Amino acid sequence: MEQTDGEILLEMNHVKKSFDGNGVLRDISLTVKKGEVVSIIGPSGSGKSTLLRCATLLEKMDGGELIYLGQTAASEKTDKNGRVQCEYASKAELHNIRKCFGLVFQNFNLFPHYTVMKNIIDAPIHVDKVSRTEAVARAEKLLAQLGLSDKADAYPYQLSGGQQQRVSIARALALQPKILFFDEPTSALDPELTAEVLKVIRQLASEHMTMIIVTHEMQFAREVSDRIIFMEQGVIVEEGSPEALFTTENVRVREFIGKLQ
Ligand code: ADP
Ligand code: MG
Repeated sequence: MEQTDGEILLEMNHVKKSFDGNGVLRDISLTVKKGEVVSIIGPSGSGKSTLLRCATLLEKMDGGELIYLGQTAASEKTDKNGRVQCEYASKAELHNIRKCFGLVFQNFNLFPHYTVMKNIIDAPIHVDKVSRTEAVARAEKLLAQLGLSDKADAYPYQLSGGQQQRVSIARALALQPKILFFDEPTSALDPELTAEVLKVIRQLASEHMTMIIVTHEMQFAREVSDRIIFMEQGVIVEEGSPEALFTTENVRVREFIGKLQ
């Protein structure tokens, strides 16, 4: 399944994050290579969303390193009082680094007052400085791939949840990211709508899109992932191939997987 030339796209080393003194990420290290599909599973509150938010620069880390394609987004510095802090790259560098990844949220996060087409072309035109013609061409291609060609002029409220989520995947793909993050992309959806979104992610996996997927869909994770990470209380408790995770001796992992299957 895994088709990787070994190029490391993302490195997170010893990442730490606290909220109000609570360690939400406690020394998390994670490396993702080109073409890999990595699923992150674990109970609610274990820090999965915080990990994705730190990786996508929506949240600042307290410690550790974040590196995309060899470009350091954040690194650890100890100040003269011995306090560890994260130092972030310059605004211009972070702007470049942000082009490496896309993020698909649980609740779609589409702009409600924009049509589907405008939702997709807005960032390529304004952030990426792509010409409007090029942005529209890209969007039309993506909408066709995702079975949404007839929805270009619709507004989000006119779409089902599954269609909205497919639009938000198209929006992320329009920026041509090297890594796509998904934070529980189907947990707001009914089972039949879940299926249509999982189908799109499966399709991306077959095209060797590099993806990090937080999900509670155990069978899907088993089928699509090269690697599964089990997180609990801010630490990676276990990490391995789907087969290794699904046959683990670790009681906590077994209990968690068993509950959700
Ligand atoms: P998960 O996605 O695994 O359910 P989260 O990363 O959302 O977990 O949350 C992990 C912990 O961090 C939870 O206890 C949550 O309440 C806390 N947390 C997350 N974001 C914030 C925040 N912005 N402020 C305070 N606490 C937060
Ligand atoms: Mg979450």
